[in-house]
Amino acid sequence: MKAALLYGINDLRLEDIDLPTIGDDEMLVRNKRSFVCGTDVRMLKNGNKNIVPGKGLVIGHEFSGTIEKIGKNVAGYSKGERVFIAPNIGCGTCFHCISGNSHMCNDYRAFGIHINGGFSEYSKIPAKAIQQGNVIKLADSVSFSEAALVEPFSCVFNGFERARISPGDTVLIQGAGPIGIMHAKLAKMAGASKIIVSDVLAERLEVVKNVDPAFITVLSDDVKKEVDLLTGKTGIDVSITACPSPDAQMLAIELGAVNGRVIFFGGLPESKQNVPINTNTIHYKQLIVSGTSKASPAQIHKSIKLLESNLIQLKDLISEEYPIEKVKLAFDKAIEAKGLKYGIAFE
Ligand SMILES: [Zn+2]
Ligand SMILES: [Zn+2]
Repeated sequence: MKAALLYGINDLRLEDIDLPTIGDDEMLVRNKRSFVCGTDVRMLKNGNKNIVPGKGLVIGHEFSGTIEKIGKNVAGYSKGERVFIAPNIGCGTCFHCISGNSHMCNDYRAFGIHINGGFSEYSKIPAKAIQQGNVIKLADSVSFSEAALVEPFSCVFNGFERARISPGDTVLIQGAGPIGIMHAKLAKMAGASKIIVSDVLAERLEVVKNVDPAFITVLSDDVKKEVDLLTGKTGIDVSITACPSPDAQMLAIELGAVNGRVIFFGGLPESKQNVPINTNTIHYKQLIVSGTSKASPAQIHKSIKLLESNLIQLKDLISEEYPIEKVKLAFDKAIEAKGLKYGIAFE
């Protein structure tokens, strides 16, 4: 089968490798769609310590497909079923795992990061992933493309749940990438009155407008002025930072309305950590400040329900799908970051 393997920094190779053999408790999935994520781009640029030198790792953790083969001990699935594969596999026994937060497990393993992932024609699903419910059946109404986007979307949904957006709230999302737009879509679903999306790049804001003209777009430098104007200086009820920027985090606090919520969704690189924040602003405005990371299994299931019920659509986030032979082009496009999501459509 054809697969894209990462061997090291800037060393992604398209290879023909053997089809994985599966044991009695495992499953083989024939992949249909696999999307490039910021995490993949970071691994390509910085490497991945889990890669055994000379061996390579099939990357990709945003993928969907159909069940091709099922081990004889696996019950409840049948060949041909359309499925999404949740990428994070907890140890299954630690407190995080048993409390439903396997995405916080210290010993978690993920497709495309620790074990072979989705940029290949077929993926082997280990027993633990099947037992933990990582193989989630899809309604026919959910396309393979949208299903593959459930991974980033469920992480956004985690942030959304914490933000507790109420009808009428003003929402500011800093960062106009696919993640920022997913946040904006959820804010709209929840009845936010004004959804402001900012970015440092004007061309990214144009993309946002194409997705939904109702979103108010503003360049990062003008956010403060615009927010004052749009809110009559009362501030932002829910601020979400969807970019790796300390300035965005500081601004989110500064612009908070009384009783506002601030979600630090995007993490910061090590070089930018330790951000000076006026904690008195949090104190006097009674702000609730939180971060979120990844998504729990329950949040992944709920995310799929939002797609099934058509409350959320993600089709318009897909900029281009390529055949696996063009996987490097898909990465180049993702790095260029002019569009939104780039991925592979398998035969
Ligand atoms: Zn991802
Ligand atoms: Zn665990």
